[in-house]
Order: sequence, then structure tokens, then C-alpha cells
Amino acid sequence: GLQPLRRALLSVSDKSGLVELAEALAERGIELLSTGGTAKALRDAGLDVIDVSEVTRFPEMMDGRVKTLHPKVHGGLLALRNDDGHVASMLEHDIPAIDLLVVNLYPFEATVAKGADYDTCIENIDIGGPAMIRAAAKNHAFVNVVTDVEDYAGLLAELEENGGRTTYAFRQRLALTAYSRTAAYDAAVSGWMAGALEDAAPRRRAFAGELAQTLRYGENPHQSAAFYRDGSSRPGVATARQLQGKELSYNNINDTDAAFELVSEFRPEDGPAVAIIKHANPCGVARGATLAEAYGRAFDCDRTSAFGGIIALNGALDVATAEEISKIFTEVIIAPGADDAAVELLAKKKNLRLLLTDGLADPAAPGVAWRQVSGGLLVQDRDSGRITAEDLKVVTRRAPSDQELKDLLFAWTVAKHVKSNAIVYVKDGATVGVGAGQMSRVDSSTIAALKARRMAEEVGLSETPAKGSVVASDAFFPFADGLLAAAEAGATAVIQPGGSMRDDEVIAAADEAGLAMVLTGMRHFRH
Ligand code: 5GP
Repeated sequence: GLQPLRRALLSVSDKSGLVELAEALAERGIELLSTGGTAKALRDAGLDVIDVSEVTRFPEMMDGRVKTLHPKVHGGLLALRNDDGHVASMLEHDIPAIDLLVVNLYPFEATVAKGADYDTCIENIDIGGPAMIRAAAKNHAFVNVVTDVEDYAGLLAELEENGGRTTYAFRQRLALTAYSRTAAYDAAVSGWMAGALEDAAPRRRAFAGELAQTLRYGENPHQSAAFYRDGSSRPGVATARQLQGKELSYNNINDTDAAFELVSEFRPEDGPAVAIIKHANPCGVARGATLAEAYGRAFDCDRTSAFGGIIALNGALDVATAEEISKIFTEVIIAPGADDAAVELLAKKKNLRLLLTDGLADPAAPGVAWRQVSGGLLVQDRDSGRITAEDLKVVTRRAPSDQELKDLLFAWTVAKHVKSNAIVYVKDGATVGVGAGQMSRVDSSTIAALKARRMAEEVGLSETPAKGSVVASDAFFPFADGLLAAAEAGATAVIQPGGSMRDDEVIAAADEAGLAMVLTGMRHFRH
């Protein structure tokens, strides 16, 4: 077994818990080495400390850029204690063995989050700290490396239990934490640079995640899972405050994200809007004169599916809307704020999770989307593509009416957030039929029309609301059949990207059916 720990090097930016830890180490007879600011904090607390500069016989220099980057430090961290050659080198060069390294890094992430300028961010990239952490972690056969203030207590408990020593398994866990930290740190630098440089393409990126929550399970109960935050301050599910309800589950987080990203497309200036999500697809999206009305109209689109749904609002939750929502079981509500009265009313619903954000997400914001595949990651720009009426090309003899045009843009926006193949029927600013995730576009059309017929039954309409509706398709109609299915269901206007080899055929069919059709020139696949 190893000897009890004899020497520690402490070099920390976050000095919380430092003195207590150092006192406990000193009590165990462990010699303390330290860098400038850390050494001062320890001396101020009355502890004996040896300056690293005394060991290296080099002053800290270049504004702290070079403090511990020296063979006397790195040799002491890296030397194999059971290798005669390594031990001989330590003796020859008077290198002190360092058994414990306690380092936390320059606060790079916090500096970026504060909105610091470029040079300040650069100066907050720690070099010596990660170098020492990686050296100590590599040599975890002999060396302990602590990179998280939260682990101080665990270290002291381990020393207590093992007569001033640590177990190999313990040092392995410390090393894993250490490498996770340096990896996340460099990824944060990479992410910041990608944002700071003009063409922040997804070509060179690393993920910087911080564990936000260990989840009870993943998509299914037999899968373990966790939630990582990437440190962004954008309004969204990762930064929302949860006011009440059980912990969010894996599926809740995924669905809440889909709901909030969708509803954020509808700016509050343009009026209230509500989205209800199930399994990451919208089962109802609507505008209304009030949020309560918008909710009611979204709910009407598919009352059966809305049960146990995730609801996102584009304005502060008011009591009238809260009352309407309370009538059925809902998993999550997410909104950019809530009235006191609404919060009070929902407090009775113990299981309902209420999340509040600071404003809406910016659908046009640049960013990167990740998806894992076996053996790799797919990285792309997030789909921030948006179109306005000016971008549309009318290709039929009949142009859409003003009301049709409004509904077409609404339907197109919803379709962007529906899994492909996506077909979305809309009437008067509310979805009336959503066909999602089918392998054939015609099947999605059929399902959307079927849902509209069922809506008529659920709501008690005399005929399907698809009659006189408009329809959006997330990608072009490869043949006229999908378009004809929509016309048959009662749609009067169509929005789709265009670009099929048979566009002429599809346009002719639209004209024949008396449809107005506009092309976006942009596709919104979503898988
Ligand atoms: P102190 O407050 O003790 O002066 O500095 C502690 C910080 O310096 C820690 O965050 C540690 O990671 C960092 N550090 C230690 N050695 C070096 C070095 O050689 N270069 C740089 N840039 N940072 C270092």
C-alpha cells in the first residue's frame, strides 16, 4: 500500500472551503505548497505554507500566466513512486513528491457569462491549472486530484477512514472527475470561440456540459439518464425556474423544449399563442384574443391527445388560462412569467410542473444542434430558418387571400416543429389537423385529415374544420397525390417548399382543384 499523504499543492481560484480543507490537511501533518493568492489566503488564516515559487526557484511571472509550469511541479505530480528510474530523477533534481493536488480553474465560463470582452475572456483561460490536473489525474495510481469544492468533504472522510491514505478506487473516481472538468473547460473555450468568430460553423466544436440533474430514468424506466446544461443563458427549459411539481423527467424535458421552442416563434406583439405538445409533436397550436382563448382553441384541435400534455405559452400565465388548463391533467406548463393569482391557483395541482422563463427563446438565434449516432455525433446549425410573406412565390392561377396567407404562414411555422413527414391543417390561426412522423407524405396527409374529422366529433362541429382550411407540408410533394388528398380533405390553399422534379404536375393539379399554392424555397425536415 501507499504511504499516508505527505504533501499537497493547493492552487484555487474559488477559495470557498479552502481554509477548512487546508487546516484539516495540516492537522494530518501534510505539508502545503501553494501559489500566490491561495498561499496568501492560507497564511492569512495562520497556516504554514511553502510558495511554489520557492520550490521552482522561479518567480510567478507574466501576470500569472506562468506559475506552476515547471519540472519541479510536474515531476512531483507525474513521477511513478514505484519506478527506480523515476525515483532517482526526483532525488537527483530535488523534486518533491506531490501526493494531493487541489485545483480549481480560472473562472472562464463565469467570465464569458458576464459578457466580458474578448481579451478578458482570453486572460481567463487557465493554462497551468489544467496542465497540473491532467498530470495528477494521469498519475492517479499514486496521486489524488481534487477539482471540485464539493469533493473536499469526501476527501477528508476518505483520509479519516484509511489512516491518512486513499484507496485506488477513490483516486480513480477523482481522476475521472478531473478529466471531465478539463474536457468541459476546453469545450467551453471552444464553444466561446466558435461564438466569437464570424463563421461559427459546426465543423469544429466540442460539447461543454455541466451536469444539471441526474434523472430518475431515461426515455424508458430501464435506461439511466442525466440532464446537462451547456451554460447558455437563453430562455428555455434548461434555464427555466420550476415553481412547483415533481422533478422533470427525461421526456418532460424533451417535450417542454419542443413546446417552448415552438411557441417562441409567435412573438407576443402579434398576440397570444399556445402550443400543446405530446411526444415532441404539437397536438394543438393556436392564436387567440387572449391566452385562455388560444389555449381553448389549441386544446380543441385534438382533445384526446392533449391529455397529459406539455403546454407552452408566449405570454405570462394569467388566472383565466390557469383555470382552463386545470380542467384536465397536464404534465408541464412553461411560460415567460405568471400572475400571482395563477400561481396560487395551480399550487393545488401538486403534480403539475410549472416552469417560468425570462422571456421567449429567439428562434432566429444561431446555435448548434447535436444528435448522437452509433460511433459519432452529427452536428449542424440549428434550424433557425424563417420566412415572411415576401419570401413566398405564388405559383397557381389563384393567389391566396389575406386570411389564407396568414394561416399559411402560421401552418408553415407549426410544420417546422412537427416530425417529418409533416402535414398541418390550419384554420383561422389554429391547427385543426396535424399529421406527424409518417414515412409517406400521403399517410401524413390522411392522418391530418382524419384528425380534423375527429376534431369535428370531439368539439361537436357539423363538418370537418379542414373544409376551408389551409395546409402546410414541411417538404415538397413528390407527386400530386399528397396535394390532392389535402384538396379532397377541404384545404383551399397550400404552402410547401417546391423543388420537386414534378413541380409542374403538382402545380397543374393545384390549379385544377382551384387551390392557391405558395412555395417557400425552404424545407423544414425534422427527425
Ligand atoms: P492563485 O489565486 O493561487 O494566485 O492562483 C490560483 C489559480 O491559478 C488556479 O485557478 C490555478 O488553476 C491557476 N494556475 C496555477 N498555475 C498556473 C500557471 O502556471 N498558469 C496559469 N495561467 N494559471 C495557473
